[in-house]
Amino acid sequence: MHEHVGEFELIARHFARPVRRALLGVGDDCALIAPTPGMQLALAADMLVEGRHFVATVPPARLGHKALAVNLSDLAACGARPLAFLLSIAMPRVDEGFVAAFAEGMYALADAHGIELVGGDTTAGPLVINVSVIGEVAPGQALRRDGARVGDTLWVSGRLGDARLALEALRGQVRLAGEDFERARLAMEAPQPRVALGLALRGIATSAIDLSDGLLGDLGHVLAASRVGASLDVATLPPGEVLARQDPAMQRLCLLHGGDDYELLFTAPAARDEAVRGAARTAGVDVTPIGRIEAAPGLRLREADGRESEVAARGFDHFA
Ligand code: ADP
Ligand code: MG
Repeated sequence: MHEHVGEFELIARHFARPVRRALLGVGDDCALIAPTPGMQLALAADMLVEGRHFVATVPPARLGHKALAVNLSDLAACGARPLAFLLSIAMPRVDEGFVAAFAEGMYALADAHGIELVGGDTTAGPLVINVSVIGEVAPGQALRRDGARVGDTLWVSGRLGDARLALEALRGQVRLAGEDFERARLAMEAPQPRVALGLALRGIATSAIDLSDGLLGDLGHVLAASRVGASLDVATLPPGEVLARQDPAMQRLCLLHGGDDYELLFTAPAARDEAVRGAARTAGVDVTPIGRIEAAPGLRLREADGRESEVAARGFDHFA
């Protein structure tokens, strides 16, 4: 495939597939989807910029996976069922090998969730990828950031910090053995969106957010939206497999200020602890209670020895 490939050829070869659920997909001015009657649409968009959200050396299939995964993670955090997505991509030149691998990684995840690509835009420019997802949720069932209540248990899914650890390794701040680096890098480049957990938590969780900018910062969003405070038991935070073997200072950094974890942080009434564990079993995901919602504003870290300290609940800010 060395002949010149134009925009429309590229779309036809790699991004157009026969529609399944959609009424009209790639190829017209709009895509058409029939929402389930009575359901609300859940919409989200997330952009990945080379040099900011990913390194140039990322395998294209993982980039395709991640571009969709971070968006599905937003739907998961709302307890919405994914339906379809749009892909807008700017790239400096047509590299068909790149596009083919990118599409393969993206479609593998799309197929795993039974959703389809229904449209988008393709243009020349610096490598920028934007995916927009469309999902649905029954009225009143969406998990939001503003529902945490005093006394709720604070939960997190999965394990935290391996993605941040991979970033520290890429920056030369920590040395990881080859196999450990590959494993941490997989956490960074191929996160698994917790869609099944988000769906299972409807009617149980009082609030939820997905962890993209670090635990403290994302928790801060929930506390601010819900107008409550919290205390976090630092020793209960579940470190990623590779992070668990690092020194305490590195563990603390990556657990509290990670980023790119794409796990769900959520709250539920303490009386529903068993329901939460049941939802996690249904979804096949581990969940860990990590703290409690309190009336006193602010965020307190409780250490293993019982010491408490007030911290700023601030996460990563691209413009800071
Ligand atoms: P228009 O000029 O009407 O916006 P385009 O020429 O940009 O249409 O795109 C042609 C068709 O291809 C549209 O249906 C659009 O949704 C689809 N499309 C373009 N780029 C992508 C992409 N990266 N992934 C999926 N569909 C795409
Ligand atoms: Mg267009």
